[in-house]
Amino acid sequence: MHLILLGLPGAGKGTQAKLLADKHGLLHVSTGDLFRAAAAEGTDLGKRAQEYMSRGELVPDEVTISMLLDRIAKPDAAAGVMLDGFPRTIPQAEALDAALEARGERIEGVLYIKVPEDLLMARLTGRWSCGNCGAIYHELTNPPREAGTCDVCGGALSQRADDRPDTVAKRLETNREWTEALAAYYEQQGKLHGADGTGEPADVTGRLEAILSKLSGAAA
Ligand code: ADP
Ligand code: AMP
Repeated sequence: MHLILLGLPGAGKGTQAKLLADKHGLLHVSTGDLFRAAAAEGTDLGKRAQEYMSRGELVPDEVTISMLLDRIAKPDAAAGVMLDGFPRTIPQAEALDAALEARGERIEGVLYIKVPEDLLMARLTGRWSCGNCGAIYHELTNPPREAGTCDVCGGALSQRADDRPDTVAKRLETNREWTEALAAYYEQQGKLHGADGTGEPADVTGRLEAILSKLSGAAA
């Protein structure tokens, strides 16, 4: 089963993917994480992506699509992926549909996590994540036991450069229209499932689990 987590930056896609993907035997694939890893390694792709990320803009489709399709062609993605942050444009969605169709596969469902925009700035500017295992925290709503240290693996926590208020504002502006367009694209395919992304992370997980049980029931 291949799934997409759709939602504006800060909606909780990464947080929920970490809680749900393993449990459902899916590989969590975040294009943001792939770009950050490439940037940390200093590859050409990473350097190119970094220019766009630091401005809060989307990395061009041709770079993003080929990176994502390469990743999901690897054996560990065969059982199913939970995509986080991809697709972000209609050409990306179309390229994904075409690539999966060529493998005789499809996206089974799109979980659209909805959070009012006025909550997103506070979520993103308070986000900290672990450079080692990727665990996600929030300095107010989900702080680590010891400031700066990951509860899961003891790694160092850091804040993303693109989570500064001016870049967050730009990222929200960039993603707003595309997110609506993608919701309409998958609605038309009958695959869109909306979930309220407010409240405790565990409450959101419960809402997404309810959708997943319906989807697995339908697939069985
Ligand atoms: P996304 O991957 O959609 O950009 P994240 O999962 O990284 O979003 O979450 C963004 C920030 O919001 C993080 O600091 C995270 O701890 C916090 N967060 C996630 N879900 C919730 C929630 N339900 N309530 C409050 N804060 C949350
Ligand atoms: P994220 O970690 O999902 O918040 O993504 C961080 C940044 O990576 C975004 O602001 C974009 O610059 C870039 N990015 C991630 N995914 C995509 C995508 N599917 N298309 C274009 N750019 C992306």
